[in-house]
Amino acid sequence: MSEAISVNQEVVQELREKIATGCRILAKLELSDYLGHVSARVPGTDYVLIKARGLVVGNLLDMTPDKVVMVNMEGEMVDGDYRQPDEVVLHTEIFKKRPDVMSVVHTHQPITTVFGDQNKKILPMQGVMADVLRKDIPTYYSSRKVVAHEQGAEVADILGDSDVIHLKNHGVVTVGESVEQAVIRAIWLEHQAKLTLLGSILGEPQGMSQKELEQQRSDAGPIDGRWMYYKGLLGE
Ligand SMILES: [Zn+2]
Repeated sequence: MSEAISVNQEVVQELREKIATGCRILAKLELSDYLGHVSARVPGTDYVLIKARGLVVGNLLDMTPDKVVMVNMEGEMVDGDYRQPDEVVLHTEIFKKRPDVMSVVHTHQPITTVFGDQNKKILPMQGVMADVLRKDIPTYYSSRKVVAHEQGAEVADILGDSDVIHLKNHGVVTVGESVEQAVIRAIWLEHQAKLTLLGSILGEPQGMSQKELEQQRSDAGPIDGRWMYYKGLLGE
């Protein structure tokens, strides 16, 4: 390690594995390719683990724990054999502003991106998956990559206390209290976007009321089972 740091290596290894799994799931579901990244805060520290830089590490389908690097809150490398992604500040600036957030996911998932482009609302269309839409989705109005601290800070400001933010004509960011939650939010968001799109071809989609959304939330089972389901899709 290039910095003298003290972290629980077991916790770090577990997070590296979860991040790699999350990347493979997102790639399997075609929400990402070699672009996009999953990150996690190392609990109780100012360090962040993040999937290493794009093309160098290949398709996210092939993501492994050794291709996850550790950075500090300025996005500077602390540990790892690869480079950090150029959009690392997108993650670190959100972690700085949101102590409740333990994981950040950034993808260029297509249907959600189309909704961001048109400023159209993704509706809560189906079951528990609609939970991802319990709060409004703000938009960061720039298609440019988020590589400067000021850009990352602006995204974090606009995100506020939401779970999701559109990066217009670029992609989306989801956050969560765990890697599982942030990854699953990205998946569920794309699914609701797909159903809203299909609904609008057929007629006028209605979506659920806020009350129904709350009921879905309280009826929902633990996230572990859902994670196991998506992990199972990898056939590993
Ligand atoms: Zn991006």
